[in-house]
Amino acid sequence: MSIVVQKFGGTSVADAERIRRAAKKAVDTKRSGLQVVMVVSARGKKTDELVGLAAEITAKPRPREMDMLLSTGEQESVALMAMAVHELGEEAISLTGAQIGVRTDGSHTEARIISISTQRMKDALDAGQIVIAAGFQGVDEDFNITTLGRGGSDTTAAALAAALDADLCEIYTDVEGVYTTDPRVVTSATKVECVSYDEMLELASLGAGVMHSRSIEFAKKYRVSLRVKPSFMDGPGTLISPEPAEPAPRVTGLAFVRSEARVSLIGIPDQPGVMNRIFSLLSDNRISVDMVVQNVGVAGTANVSFTVAEDDLENTLTVAKTATDDLGGVVQHNANLSKVSVVGHGMQTHTGVAAQMFRVLADNSVNIHIVTTSEIKISVLIDHDLCDRAVNAVHEEFQVAHQNEQTPQVGVPSESPRKRTRKDTSELEADIVSRLSGMEEIVVSDIYSDTDQARVTITQLDDHPGVAAEVFFAVADGGILVDMIIQNVALDGKANISFTVPGGDVARTIEVLRDPLQRHRDAQVSCDESIGKISVVGIGLRSHTDVGARMFHALGDGGINVQMVNTSEIKVSVVVAADQTDTALTALRMSFNLSQDEAT
Ligand code: ADP
Ligand code: ASP
Ligand code: MG
Repeated sequence: MSIVVQKFGGTSVADAERIRRAAKKAVDTKRSGLQVVMVVSARGKKTDELVGLAAEITAKPRPREMDMLLSTGEQESVALMAMAVHELGEEAISLTGAQIGVRTDGSHTEARIISISTQRMKDALDAGQIVIAAGFQGVDEDFNITTLGRGGSDTTAAALAAALDADLCEIYTDVEGVYTTDPRVVTSATKVECVSYDEMLELASLGAGVMHSRSIEFAKKYRVSLRVKPSFMDGPGTLISPEPAEPAPRVTGLAFVRSEARVSLIGIPDQPGVMNRIFSLLSDNRISVDMVVQNVGVAGTANVSFTVAEDDLENTLTVAKTATDDLGGVVQHNANLSKVSVVGHGMQTHTGVAAQMFRVLADNSVNIHIVTTSEIKISVLIDHDLCDRAVNAVHEEFQVAHQNEQTPQVGVPSESPRKRTRKDTSELEADIVSRLSGMEEIVVSDIYSDTDQARVTITQLDDHPGVAAEVFFAVADGGILVDMIIQNVALDGKANISFTVPGGDVARTIEVLRDPLQRHRDAQVSCDESIGKISVVGIGLRSHTDVGARMFHALGDGGINVQMVNTSEIKVSVVVAADQTDTALTALRMSFNLSQDEAT
């Protein structure tokens, strides 16, 4: 018989009335002939209350005790839910994480699932019961209770759906589905019918709180069909599926993180091994970084910037200081920042999406401190107090663009700039997933190189709103498809931007930049056609904090200097010198245990 997993979030089980309503959905589903596993979160703000209570006792609660405490929220909910189902005349059994055999590693408060034993759930389902599983929790090998990180019940649901080979995993929540952005912040946000795994992975990891990003990792790895639905009404919700909507809009969604901090290491040596040292230290301290930007070296030194969650700043500064004590250079930081990102497969085939975003920000007097991109996302770092303005303006721009999608596009659609490897990525992923020893282990499915790109770097740009827009509008108007974009934090009022374009377009790029750069007295353009871009493709590349460290370790050991980096959940790319590309590719494939014969 087909199995459906139905997850109900905190607001959807906040009081007796809502618990009854959730129970009724499950009972109706069971009566339609399906087997039902419910995954339930703690009621309302229960988890926050428990966190607050712990803070009243101690400023530094031990993580093990925190997990013991927080897991009680879900335990309360499952028992109440079982009672509600009983009242509706169906059999149900509530089970804690330990009772359903959710085995995790021992990283308290952020544990990862290793395995799930399905026998007890299957027996209960076959006996006609609705299984009511506590979300967010598991046990380590010593039976200590662990939790999966805030918002982790989504991950429990997707993991159970994967382990039980369920037909569908429904995520019931307090909005109608996945919206173009947070509907609580932008009232004109609209629900989307369908979003791809990759888009949702990026959106969730870049701040869209509607789904825990690790739940999408599970969905993608194990091909779980996910639907986000409203718990307070009937409605189809949003399908999260392997493929993007057709035709893909330029931008599918916008996500933001209000409180982000930037840390820069200025004047560090520009030589192999330096990035390795920094990223190993960060990874050892389990600090998850985003927006990694390295300037092309000048006079033997380089500047590296990255962003971290504001809560991680203190820890990060200690780590950064250790690195500069060792390597030289100084640490700078800024805490009052927000990150705004647009995500969509459509940007792979439309030129000018970045320019459009930068222009809207400039029109709204929002200065951009840092830019990073990957294949399907563009992120900018801006001042914290401009976050709402930026989010609303950028959202409106792309919503209008989508509504007018019939109008001619800026530039021309282009074929994907990268070469494919022998097998389709999903096949490679399936192969690797079948061999994983832990369900949440990282998946690196492919590593390939592309030597058809060239790097263009503009230094000494006057830093004011609109600089990036001027540059990228000129490039887009020239019909040139930009791949990686990196803008590092301005120093002494001067910004610098690096980006890659198809090798054959370098001359035209220089040409189209001539006009806008005339307005910048000191600006200098340089280009390098002898570069290689190497991309590591997989699932959960950012949430596993050691990926960057492993990459930089392998490259550092091989004596390879990294010129540009960009990171995302599904791909990390580095630019190196063309004549080092093959060595770098081999080193990275070895480091991630991929066979060499698959290399392109
Ligand atoms: P639950 O308790 O059901 O897990 P969450 O609060 O974790 O619910 O997630 C739902 C909330 O996510 C919504 O109320 C909404 O404010 C927020 N949200 C952020 N980004 C989005 C988005 N793109 N689409 C829908 N909701 C979003
Ligand atoms: N109750 C947990 C939290 O609030 C898990 C969840 O709701 O997904 O983070
Ligand atoms: Mg949630």
